[in-house]
This record gives sequence, C-alpha cells and structure tokens, in this order.
Amino acid sequence: MNNTPYQEQSQEYDHLFKLVLIGNSGVGKSCMLMRYAENTFTQNFYNTIGVDFKIKTINLQGKQIKLQIWDTAGQDRFKTITTNYYRGAHGIVVVYDVTDRLSFENVKTWMSEIEKYAQENVCKLLIGNKSDLSDKRTVSTEEGQQLASSLKIKFIETSAKNSNNIDSAFESMAQDVLIRISDIKT
Ligand code: GDP
Ligand code: MG
Repeated sequence: MNNTPYQEQSQEYDHLFKLVLIGNSGVGKSCMLMRYAENTFTQNFYNTIGVDFKIKTINLQGKQIKLQIWDTAGQDRFKTITTNYYRGAHGIVVVYDVTDRLSFENVKTWMSEIEKYAQENVCKLLIGNKSDLSDKRTVSTEEGQQLASSLKIKFIETSAKNSNNIDSAFESMAQDVLIRISDIKT
C-alpha cells in the first residue's frame, strides 16, 4: 500500500549542503544568517555560547537545495573551533567587516584554518560585510577583490543591515557547491 497516510513522505529536497560561517568576532556572521534565514536584523551583539545552525531551502536549477548553515555563535576565536565544525562542510564563507581592518587582515589566518581542517575541495567565498557603513569603511572594495583573487576565491560585499547581497551571497555559494558535486558525479 503506497498511499497510506502513515507512509513516510518522500524526501522534500534533492540535496543537503552544509555551509559554515567563519571570521573574527563582531563581523556580522550571526546577523547575516538571521537576515538570510529569518529576514530580521538586530543591533544587539549576540554572544551565544556553542555552535548553532539554521536551515533554508531554496530552488536552484529546478532542484530543491536544503542549506544547513552553521554559525560559530561566539566560539570564533582561534583554536576553539573544533574539526567537527568543518567536518562534512560543502562550503565555507569567510567574513570580514569592511570597517574593521584587523578582521580583514585575519582572513589569511582563517584561510589557513580551512587548509588544516576542511576537506580539500571545499567551496569558499570571501565576504566583506557592513557595506552600509560607508563613512566608517577602512577596507576598500578593491582590496577585498585583490585578496580574493590572490586566494582564488569568489568575493562579494554585503550588508546584513540593509539586506544588500545577502541572498546572492548564499545562493552563489550554493550554486558553486551544486556545480562541484555535479562535477564529482560525472
Ligand atoms: P558575529 O560575532 O560575527 O556573529 O557578529 P554579529 O552578527 O553578532 O554582529 C556584530 C555587530 O555588528 C552587531 O551589533 C550587529 O548589529 C552589527 N552588524 C552586523 N551586520 C551588520 C551590517 O551589515 N551593517 C551594520 N551597520 N551593522 C552590522
Ligand atoms: Mg555570532
């Protein structure tokens, strides 16, 4: 009997991708995730303990893609993130704050974390967040682009506050992962 109400429903998605957010504390990772998954923004600084994730399902090229996006939730100081956080990740989003020069300089350190802990061909994206704060900016768009191209990864500037490029950033990441897994399959 196939149509009994007790029958397990078929999977509601075609792919499940694990994405993780890394970057210095205060760059806006949690706000980006809140904006993307729940379309909300808060000025309050979250300092939750532990690691948390949010789910968002999107449609890409006729496929239902379930994104499981992990946020370090306060444990984002070096050495405190365990290998579990990176394990099985399809995509890694490295975030800096365009008004915080140190967070930009630390991108290289975060990249070496990735080299150490993530799977070899993981998709990467560099994000310069807080693009709305133009008068406080200390890292130019060109510098972000140059760093990304020297690291051979994609780059985008976002604002979790005014929603600028948040959807496109996560969708571009999902798109890259989709392409990568199709390459692996064929
Ligand atoms: P996290 O430590 O990387 O998770 O950073 P949070 O998401 O907690 O954000 C740190 C602070 O930056 C909070 O006060 C946020 O309100 C603020 N913030 C985050 N994203 C933006 C943004 O795009 N624009 C502005 N102006 N502030 C932001
Ligand atoms: Mg946070």
